[in-house]
Amino acid sequence: MSHQARKRFGQNFLSDPNIIRKIVDAIAPQAGQRMVEIGPGLAAMTDPLLARLGTLDVVEIDRDLIALLKERYRPEALTIHEGDALKFDFGTLGPDLRIVGNLPYNISTPILFHLAGFADQVRDMTFMLQKEVVMRMVAEPGSSEYGRLSVMLQYRFRMGRMFDVPPGAFRPAPKVMSSIVRLVPRPSDTLAARDEALLGKIVTAAFGQRRKTLRNTLRDFIDEAGLSALGIDPGQRAERLSVADYVAIANACCAARAA
Ligand code: SAM
Repeated sequence: MSHQARKRFGQNFLSDPNIIRKIVDAIAPQAGQRMVEIGPGLAAMTDPLLARLGTLDVVEIDRDLIALLKERYRPEALTIHEGDALKFDFGTLGPDLRIVGNLPYNISTPILFHLAGFADQVRDMTFMLQKEVVMRMVAEPGSSEYGRLSVMLQYRFRMGRMFDVPPGAFRPAPKVMSSIVRLVPRPSDTLAARDEALLGKIVTAAFGQRRKTLRNTLRDFIDEAGLSALGIDPGQRAERLSVADYVAIANACCAARAA
């Protein structure tokens, strides 16, 4: 299939057969599993995935690529959802869903936040992203990469970086190193925030000014005594707190508001 890569859709197509095989092996698709691929592009991963699964859903925004995919695959095998993955309701694809993709790098953070909303229906997700984003996703408290993305994704998923993919594996080659990351939803009874929207606001406030102390950044949510009662030093900065600490703060705020 020939196609002029479009920058605005973050198009870097995988072209190294060994890397493609390694990624598909890491996904380990089994016949009968429900899977959706975000951004199939020129079908580098779509083709081997379909060969193992029998049927596959894809979400693609580029009309020229959609036309090529329609020419190449039978609609009974490949279900194409035409449009923006950021607006796609992954809940319509049923439970126990596996989501995969070499994600468009220009929308990596918003797409991860969008997908986090479907964690209850998902078995697992395996993505290629810029290595720098993957390092932020899996970062631990105390590191400079630990931030809002780490906390909000680690709240919902257990995550692991699997391996790196160099720029030479793509056409055109991106400027940065990429990594494969696997996300598996946490059981919903661990780390449960009573008000997830509030958790999101607290984490955003804490990391919005990450050089300031929690007594300043969280003053609209909880006072110093409240932080101390949770065993959290109000003089600390956002990057020192674990995900469980943020959930404890959000739940204490909830309890205080209810009282
Ligand atoms: N999977 C192919 C591969 O590995 O060679 C293509 C990967 S390329 C990095 C990203 C793909 O996502 C492109 O096919 C692009 O058109 C598609 N895409 C970009 N933005 C999208 C969006 N908002 N919704 C759905 N697909 C999108």
